[in-house]
Amino acid sequence: MSPSAVENPTTEWTPSSWRSKPIKQCPEYPDINALRKATGELSRLPPIVHPHEINRLKQNLRDVARGEAFLLQGGDCAELFDYCRQDAIESKIKLLLQMSLVLIWGADKRVVRIGRMAGQYAKPRSSPTEIVEGKEVPSFRGDILNGYHIEDRELDPQRLVKAYNHSAATLNYIRAAIAAGIADLHRPLNWSLGHVKEPHLKAKYTEAVNFLQDMIHFMHTIGADRNSKLDTIDLYTSHEGLLLEYEESLTRLLETPQPALSENARGSASNGTSETRKQYYDTSAHFIWIGDRTRQIDGAHVEFFRGIANPIGIKVGPTTPVSDLLELLRTLNPDREEGKITLITRYGASKVRELLPAHIRAVEGSEYKRCVIWQCDPMHGNTRSTGTGFKTRRFGDIFSELQETLQIHKEEGSYLGGVHLELTGDAVTECLGGSEGLDEDDLSTNYTSFCDPRLNEKQALELTFLIADHYRK
Ligand code: PEP
Ligand code: MN
Repeated sequence: MSPSAVENPTTEWTPSSWRSKPIKQCPEYPDINALRKATGELSRLPPIVHPHEINRLKQNLRDVARGEAFLLQGGDCAELFDYCRQDAIESKIKLLLQMSLVLIWGADKRVVRIGRMAGQYAKPRSSPTEIVEGKEVPSFRGDILNGYHIEDRELDPQRLVKAYNHSAATLNYIRAAIAAGIADLHRPLNWSLGHVKEPHLKAKYTEAVNFLQDMIHFMHTIGADRNSKLDTIDLYTSHEGLLLEYEESLTRLLETPQPALSENARGSASNGTSETRKQYYDTSAHFIWIGDRTRQIDGAHVEFFRGIANPIGIKVGPTTPVSDLLELLRTLNPDREEGKITLITRYGASKVRELLPAHIRAVEGSEYKRCVIWQCDPMHGNTRSTGTGFKTRRFGDIFSELQETLQIHKEEGSYLGGVHLELTGDAVTECLGGSEGLDEDDLSTNYTSFCDPRLNEKQALELTFLIADHYRK
């Protein structure tokens, strides 16, 4: 096994070694002392997530890479501090739970759930300024950097500490709600299908719902649910690791037991092992990813990510040269840990057929065969603007990219291990189409995203039914 950056000091990785590399999307704080004060405070605060949880997720993701489980990742494009509320958190947990039930039924596999939650506060922007109410102002870069209101657009380092506090409060409530039984399947879930007018689709969705409800009832009747995990779920957290000052401050050298290779992924990380290992964990979330704008091989983000033990994602799109992919894998996962890296592909419905096969062949034809998780993000290549200035996405494009992606993986003999979606449990009107038939005139009804358009609850569930349908054919 080749030594990783973590174990080999000659590669000179440290939590701050990214600072000597060229960096994109880097904030220029006007007051460096205020920045130092904020990062100093962060580095004294306790981890938001525990390394044992990160290790447990890694074991689950190894199963996904092996084709034995499916990964569902979803949440807001930009989480706001204001979303740290009971109702918003509960509705997202419930939606992810419902979607995962449909996927379990459809794909006949265990589902690993990761929320874009409890820390998704930093946004990359294409332009440093934007026009709001006829005025050119600094772009909104996410609540961790500046505020959406135009008078709050100056960068404020205290927001780093606020981001920590809101992440911790969100995750605290996720844990509390799960421990109190929010995911208990004996509670009725809202499966209302009244909005589905097309008889053929309605019949399909009804079949799935009836099956799931009957199964839960049956397990309850025979008592098979008593000792099982029907009353609880795992829900991991994730965000784009964009703001390296923040990620560095929460990165800690921690000693954890190393799981035996053959261990069942659902067991505790400490079972059946006596060895421990010290590694750097980014304790801001269980999983973090590198965005489409910051994955330069020699850049600061790749440098930071190569030294942390967390499972990580890399966004892959039309601007990713085939040759970069292998270089990224060799830099970020030299030990070839299965499931360590999730390739989050996002080309757009019209480009996926042309671009995905070459990416799959490069990876699966290399020493990284069956090592990565292929995940489809059918959102980010399908964003468009309406004539009236709304940023939107068409349900049809989203589904089409997903369907093509499933088909291409089938043809190439690789496994599509997951989906990555922007969604919310609220009844927003941000994406067009779906069975509710939202059109451009409907967008203004409840458009509340401060960044990209999200699937609403009905659209997200519908997309899940369609994925399930693909597997059951
Ligand atoms: C995102 O996931 O919100 C995002 C900005 O995606 P990408 O980096 O793929 O553009
Ligand atoms: Mn987005």
